[in-house]
Amino acid sequence: MKLASRKTISVSEQRRNNLQLERARAVAVRDMYPALGQLQVSLVFNDGSLRTPSPQSHTFFPAARAFFRFTCPCAECDGNFDLREPVSELVTSLSRSRRGAARQTKGRLSCEGVRLRDRVGSRPCPMKLEYELTATAAE
Ligand SMILES: [Zn+2]
Repeated sequence: MKLASRKTISVSEQRRNNLQLERARAVAVRDMYPALGQLQVSLVFNDGSLRTPSPQSHTFFPAARAFFRFTCPCAECDGNFDLREPVSELVTSLSRSRRGAARQTKGRLSCEGVRLRDRVGSRPCPMKLEYELTATAAE
């Protein structure tokens, strides 16, 4: 492990790489949630600035990696938004409903990362996330 010798890799880049590694190791959606046919994740970010990052939308099919953490869109930030718990709750409620049924949930999260240029003052990242999850049961 000589990653630290390359100074060109920033901490946030390293975190992103780690997250990508974790994603690559994640099991398939169908293995983790056999009852799930499709999951739509919509992410709206807001950090109170005029340059709000563009919203994101992700669709997970059974063959996709069951990886529900999303990096903070702020380039200097080392944080990520962890949606594993709401996804798990949603799919649990879905598994009790009929085939083809859809369930939806919404919520808000705050980034728990630190913006690097603010690290001296250790100011937390102000990024807020509003997420919407729509799960459809497997047919
Ligand atoms: Zn952040």
